[in-house]
Amino acid sequence: MSEKPSKSNRAPFPSGGATWEEIEATMDDLTKDDIDWRAGRVPLYVFKATEEASHAGKHGFMKFFSENALGGKRAFFGLKKMEDDIIDFGLDLLNGPAGSGGMTSTGGSESILIGVKAARDFARSQGCTGNAFNIVVPYSAHPAFNKAGGLMDIEVRRANIGVDLRADTDSMETMIDKQTIMLVGSAPCFPHGVVDPIDDISVLAQKWDIWLHVDACVGGYLIPFLQKAGRSIPNFDFNFPGVRSISADLHKFGFCPKPISTLFFRHAEDLERVTFKFDGWPNGLFSTATIAGTRAGGAIAGSWAVLNHLGVSGYTSNAEKMAEMTDRYVLGIEAIEGLHMLAKPDATIINFGSRDYDIFAVAEKLGEHGWLPGLTKDPKGMHAMMSMFHEPAREQYLSDLEAAANQVRGNNIGESNITATY
Ligand SMILES: *Cc1c(COP(=O)(O)O)cnc(C)c1O
Repeated sequence: MSEKPSKSNRAPFPSGGATWEEIEATMDDLTKDDIDWRAGRVPLYVFKATEEASHAGKHGFMKFFSENALGGKRAFFGLKKMEDDIIDFGLDLLNGPAGSGGMTSTGGSESILIGVKAARDFARSQGCTGNAFNIVVPYSAHPAFNKAGGLMDIEVRRANIGVDLRADTDSMETMIDKQTIMLVGSAPCFPHGVVDPIDDISVLAQKWDIWLHVDACVGGYLIPFLQKAGRSIPNFDFNFPGVRSISADLHKFGFCPKPISTLFFRHAEDLERVTFKFDGWPNGLFSTATIAGTRAGGAIAGSWAVLNHLGVSGYTSNAEKMAEMTDRYVLGIEAIEGLHMLAKPDATIINFGSRDYDIFAVAEKLGEHGWLPGLTKDPKGMHAMMSMFHEPAREQYLSDLEAAANQVRGNNIGESNITATY
């Protein structure tokens, strides 16, 4: 047990009475040292398509500020209809076959958690017993799989990735055994921004009869539109017969208000099985598919608003703009002496390093100029997941990056001791 904070450094419970004007002034003061994310200086966490889409999301959210999605079935029918629509839209986009189903959740981590639980519950329904299950994921898969494994006592085996930084399916296959209940591929993985070979992993899943979850938290609402915009990006969806579930975040490249993600199942029965149902308390049947009970109605309404506002045309034109922006970033970075891409980006995540000097030393210098540097430790590199916040920042970023790189290279500055943190 940690010690209780002493009275002197603990914030006292407010005495109350602050007006909104006072509160807002204090909030502005609290954020004055924040990194300027609106100006594209934060390379993750925040997403933007257009001003109009942000407007639709905010207004949709505020209109349903009080409604609770937990009560969608019994009281808030409009909200329930919007949630059902959101699931239909996602299944339509990701080629969900007849009989498929889905749900919304509060984020990618929750979607992944429930996906892993669904595979575990399915394995149990097939007569597999005990808790000694394992899942096989690429080294580059999101930590949420380990969070899920930790909660459910499922071992997470991280397989090698290849020189192209995509999942190595041979390495994955060597880790499979009788207790393996799930294989995972990312579309794309967060660290390197490349799509794993879902086609090959799907073959593996069918060969060994194992559940395949595709983590499209980043690409679910982005890759289909990059493809429509004419970009050649590997496929990842339910058209591959081994794919049994897909996580896709609306609050990333769906440009919807946090917190919202989606989770889709090839078989609606998998959703039915994973749904928590409990009747042994005074108020009768309690049933939710989510980990959360109470859920923000605003996130659903705001997402429904953004999806209807952007639609196929808006998402496609925005995807095209982001792809062109990413191309310009890549060109600009590769024009700087000593820098090279660690992978050719499949989406808008860039990851680059240097063979000539310490890239973390460059990142440290950039940090001194008001940029939050994204880092990968393996391979050592700089990292950014970009949306339209990052277009106005591009020229300044590239010139500050070049100055930092030249400084490190020219002055033979040694290794930085900063560490990669998400
Ligand atoms: C962001 C992310 C997640 C987790 O999503 P949260 O909404 O942050 O919980 C999962 N997988 C990938 C590839 C991600 O980038």
